[in-house]
Parts: sequence; structure tokens; C-alpha cells
Amino acid sequence: MSTQRNSKQRDAVYADLMSRYDHPTADEVYFSVKKDLPNISLATVYRNLKLLENEGLILKITTEDSDRYDGHTQTHYHLMCDRCKKVSDLNIKNGFNLNELPDNEFNGEIRTHALLFFGLCKDCKQTKN
Ligand SMILES: [Zn+2]
Ligand SMILES: [Zn+2]
Repeated sequence: MSTQRNSKQRDAVYADLMSRYDHPTADEVYFSVKKDLPNISLATVYRNLKLLENEGLILKITTEDSDRYDGHTQTHYHLMCDRCKKVSDLNIKNGFNLNELPDNEFNGEIRTHALLFFGLCKDCKQTKN
């Protein structure tokens, strides 16, 4: 396997994540990337997701049923819908920095945080049972 081919697969995985906001699972990225690269394997998609995550280019969102991926790494949060299990972006009101929340007795240093909200997405809230 040549380096050129590896980087083509990596670029395809990254481009797919950058083009969408639905926080796909590795399987969903695989099915999408496969349209352009029919020979790509699920293992290769997983490997590239890990690589991109380690480089800080994408975010991994760990949920109770599966890991989701996000190509958009600016600070934002996620809501997982209790009903449809969709993970959507949730922006926090301006000026609210969770890294600054610990009280004065905490003498460590916070660098980042991971937070997942649970509730109903907009679509599910509008739909009556
Ligand atoms: Zn929903
Ligand atoms: Zn997101």
C-alpha cells in the first residue's frame, strides 16, 4: 500500500466529515466514502479516524451506543436525542467557559472537557408521541 494511496483515503475520510453535521458513526463514514473509493475497507476508515483524531483534526464523541465523529473542532457541545438517537450541535450562550467553572480549591489546570447533553432534538420535540 503506497503512502499516496493512504493519504488519499485519509483525505476522503476527512472531507466527508467536514461536509456533514450529522456526527456519523464509523460505519456511516465508510458507506459515504465508499462511493468514491470502492476499495476502501472499514478497518481503513477506522484507522484514519483514529489518525485524524490523534492529530486533533476531528472530534470523537463517545455515546452509550456508538462513537460518533465530528470534523468541526471549534468549541461546541452536543445533544443526543433520547428518542431518535441523533447527535446534533448545541451551542452554549456566549461568554460561558466551562474550563473556568471549578472553584478556588481546585488548583490543577483544565485543558479541555467532554460533555454530552441528553434530551429531545428539535424535530422530536415538535412531534407528538
Ligand atoms: Zn430526535
Ligand atoms: Zn458537532
